[in-house]
Amino acid sequence: MSIHAQLPEEVQVYEVGPRDGLQNEKQNIPTEAKVRFIDLLSAAGLPVIEVTSFVRPGSIPQLADSEEVVKRIKTTAGIRYTALVPNERGLARVTGLFESKSGDGALPLQGIAVFTAASETFSRKNTNASIAETFERFEPVISSARSAGLWVRGYVSTAFGCPYEGDVPARAVTEVASRLLELGVEEVAVSDTIGVATPAQVEEIIGAVADVTGIERIALHFHDTRGTALANVLAGLLLGVTTFDSSAGGLGGCPYAPGAAGNLATEDLVYMLHGLGIRTGINLEKVVEASKYLSVIRGQAPASRYFQAAIS
Ligand code: MG
Repeated sequence: MSIHAQLPEEVQVYEVGPRDGLQNEKQNIPTEAKVRFIDLLSAAGLPVIEVTSFVRPGSIPQLADSEEVVKRIKTTAGIRYTALVPNERGLARVTGLFESKSGDGALPLQGIAVFTAASETFSRKNTNASIAETFERFEPVISSARSAGLWVRGYVSTAFGCPYEGDVPARAVTEVASRLLELGVEEVAVSDTIGVATPAQVEEIIGAVADVTGIERIALHFHDTRGTALANVLAGLLLGVTTFDSSAGGLGGCPYAPGAAGNLATEDLVYMLHGLGIRTGINLEKVVEASKYLSVIRGQAPASRYFQAAIS
């Protein structure tokens, strides 16, 4: 059977650059540059954009301007704008923004994301809480968000390997993913936080998770730290996954995981998807424009291979 026959016709790309990318940025990016970057991503047709994080401003100073960013972006109908929310205080900041909704009654954000991990040590080091405690923490967040009409995603970090524990058993990933769905999240983003996954492992772990949860609500978040992200996407596509995370230009990584660098670049992902005949609704050259804009602000070339080929 040909590869084409086994692939979905359409894939949703979940853009994490403004949040997962910029949270790891060493230099200060002005609020207006973040807003412009997000507006350019909207113009490129990204269907979902995670724009910021409502963590305690002191813990990630790079994203301390989250309210301002959300208020100032130009939202486009049909695009889902989301933000990371770690606790009830963060959710209160999000719902506080709803008073500033636009004249047509549209909310400035349509979704939130909560996060936990498949590895106990990573959870403690990353969030200062056991996995069970993270669930206690965001159980009320998920239910209040749902009551407020928000879509909710749950991240499962270190699903393919932990910087402290090494291998993570598929059963640990399955347990955390199932629990998130029981609590009411609409999508579980199974994440390779340190970029160690390989395609056979994707088949093993995602196959095991999907046996319990179904494949429909699984999204995949790969890092290209060891060059395997696109091969892993292909493995995910063949399993029936239709939502993949990426970051314009390949911006960012994980500030807590030693050695982790490089979200899969949106340009590289979209180039491969389009080459496979899969629709995304994204204008690839406009993604390059967004990355180019930010690279000038940062004074650094994006990691994206497609970007480098496109501008040379
Ligand atoms: Mg990431």
